[in-house]
Amino acid sequence: MKKLMLLVVVVVCVFVALGQTPRSKNEPPVKPMVSVIPTANAATTTSTAFTAAASSNANLRNELTWTFGGKAQRGWYLYDLLINQTLDSRDDTITDSFATTLATWQKKQGLASNGVLNEDSLMSLVSQWQNNRLKDRTPATADQLITAPPSDFYDPSRAPELRQVERNTYEAYKRMLAAATSDLGTSGDYLKIVSAFRSREYQDELRRKSPNAGSAGLAVNSPHFTGRALDLYVGGSPVDTRDENRAIQVNTPAYRWLVRNAERFGFRPYFYEPWHWEYVK
Ligand SMILES: [Zn+2]
Repeated sequence: MKKLMLLVVVVVCVFVALGQTPRSKNEPPVKPMVSVIPTANAATTTSTAFTAAASSNANLRNELTWTFGGKAQRGWYLYDLLINQTLDSRDDTITDSFATTLATWQKKQGLASNGVLNEDSLMSLVSQWQNNRLKDRTPATADQLITAPPSDFYDPSRAPELRQVERNTYEAYKRMLAAATSDLGTSGDYLKIVSAFRSREYQDELRRKSPNAGSAGLAVNSPHFTGRALDLYVGGSPVDTRDENRAIQVNTPAYRWLVRNAERFGFRPYFYEPWHWEYVK
C-alpha cells in the first residue's frame, strides 16, 4: 500500500513537473524578434581635420604650463565649464567638435585658427573673463549697504559688520538663490554667503594677520570694498585656491549652475576663484 502511494506521488510529481516546466514563473521573458543593428564606430567615422587638435587638447588640458598672478599654473581642466560657456559649446573639451568650435572662436579673436587650446588662446579667454569683471572699485558708502540676516551666511555667527552687502547686489543675490534652489532642490549650505562687503580697515587687518598671503582675497584694491563681490559656498574648503580644492568646487551642481545662470542675474565669475562672483549691473 505504501509502495503504491509512493508510486502515485512520484508519477504525479513527474507529471506536474513536466506539465509545469514550460509555464514556470522562472521562464525568461519572450525576447522580441529584433536583430541587433550594427552601429557605426564613432572613432573611425568622425575623424576630422581637428582630430589632431583634439588629441593636443587632451594633453594640454592637464599639462599646459602658464602663469597667473605670478604663480605657475598647470593645465586648464579647472576651467572646462567656463571655457565651454564662453564658446557657447556643450562639448567635452577633448573632442573634435570642441576643437572645431574653438577654431571658429580663435578666428574671430585673430588667433591662429587651429583648434588647439594653447597658451595664446587660454590667455585670450582669461583676459576676456577678467575684462567682464567689476571695473569700478569705489568703496561702498554706509547708505549703499544693508546688513543681511545670519541665515544667509555660511557662518551664521558672523558679526553684523561682516554681513553687509550692497543693496542691489543683495536683491539680485536673493533672486538668483531662489532660482537656484528651485532648479537644484534644497541646497544646504550651497550658495550661502561666505564673505561680502569688507572695509579697507578689515582687509588691512586680514593682511597683517597673513603677511605672505598673495591671494586676490587679500588684494590691496579688493572688489569686496564695493559690497558687490560675494564669495559663495560652492563646496570643498570655502575659499582655498589649491588645485585639488578647486577641482572639487568646479564639479559641484551649485558651481555648474552658477556658470550657466549667474549672468542672467547680473553676476559674473572670477575664473580663478570658483566662489567669487561680482554683481556688474
Ligand atoms: Zn572674493
